[in-house]
Amino acid sequence: MPMLHGCAFPGCSTFTLSTYCVEHELLVRAVKESERTQATDVSLAADTALTADAALTSATSEAAAS
Ligand SMILES: [Zn+2]
Repeated sequence: MPMLHGCAFPGCSTFTLSTYCVEHELLVRAVKESERTQATDVSLAADTALTADAALTSATSEAAAS
């Protein structure tokens, strides 16, 4: 049975069944998509992707530890 836990996005405390709450799930997906499809705003994409990756990594570690 799935358990509610806090969204993995830094600073977000919304409870969710997924890694991220709906809002941040979409945000992270959009970041990943834009990372692949457009390299125009490289610095911003890199910054956002780094944040998303860090959140994803910490979420994965937490999941692995529990
Ligand atoms: Zn969130």
